[in-house]
Amino acid sequence: MKKISIVIPAFNEEQNIPLIHQKISEVFSALPTYNFEIIFVNDGSRDQTQNVLENLSSQFPEVKYLEFSRNFGHQPAVKAGIDYSNSNAVISMDADLQHPAELIPEMISAWEEGFDIVYTIRKYPKEISRFKRKTSDYFYKFLSKISDVDMTTGGGSDFRLMDASVVDVMRNMQESDLFLRGLSTWMGFKQKGIKFTANERFHGESSYNLNKMMKFAFTGITAFSVKPLYLAAYLGFFFSLLSVVIYIPYVLHAFFAGTEISGWASLIMTVVFFGGLQLVILGIFGIYLGKIFKQVKERPNYIIRSKNF
Ligand code: UDP
Ligand code: MG
Repeated sequence: MKKISIVIPAFNEEQNIPLIHQKISEVFSALPTYNFEIIFVNDGSRDQTQNVLENLSSQFPEVKYLEFSRNFGHQPAVKAGIDYSNSNAVISMDADLQHPAELIPEMISAWEEGFDIVYTIRKYPKEISRFKRKTSDYFYKFLSKISDVDMTTGGGSDFRLMDASVVDVMRNMQESDLFLRGLSTWMGFKQKGIKFTANERFHGESSYNLNKMMKFAFTGITAFSVKPLYLAAYLGFFFSLLSVVIYIPYVLHAFFAGTEISGWASLIMTVVFFGGLQLVILGIFGIYLGKIFKQVKERPNYIIRSKNF
């Protein structure tokens, strides 16, 4: 019998865990030809998540868990689940029931047809704010433009099925700044997208705020592209050229009229403008430098405190 692992990162999800377990069990009771296991990754939760997981796993043999030593973030949690899985396919999904478990049979049948990665494309329900909708859409468009992979198709959610061959490749990736949605698009293989409507979060609060989304955006861009670095060179070239062109009439004026040119205000403006521009570019360099720093230390993406496997 083929075995499917469901990987679920959980950060303060004490109320959602029993519910998602039940939903997934229902789905698989209609798929008797498959074995399944659920790998919950407790990402340093501060509520009763760990107790709930220990109880659940003592009652149900298909429930496994990994407990992190602290909060490492959503992406490392998914990666950990992938690393510890041992099955024919892995499905990653959220604990908050926003990813409908009812989609699993469709994902599995696409996989059986021969697709290696079955990703999902999130359609928004009306209740989701326009702001989140738009920022998310523009983010993936922008990301696709600036990096060299098309992310508008695979982006948007970490609800995804991966064949064992894909999981093997992913397990061996040693990136310190994880951006799995981008990685899975970048990897290639035979991919298929399925559309779904995201549900509202069931219990608890979303832990992604604007600040986190911005950070995620920076991670996404800098993990896949060095184009921002080229920006510095282009801007430098452009402004050098511009300054020469603008300078010519003044030189001629000074040469023929022999008078000095006043312009304290414009001088300061220019100095300030270029000062700012240089800082921005230094900042971009800094972001890449920071990534190299992190990568070079080769610290693990996560630390496991306890597990049942
Ligand atoms: N999550 C996690 N670590 C974190 C934040 C979130 O493991 O630091 C999990 C969370 O429990 C959920 C999933 O990642 O299963 C998605 O998080 P959330 O629902 O907060 O994000 P959103 O759906 O708003 O993008
Ligand atoms: Mg959510």
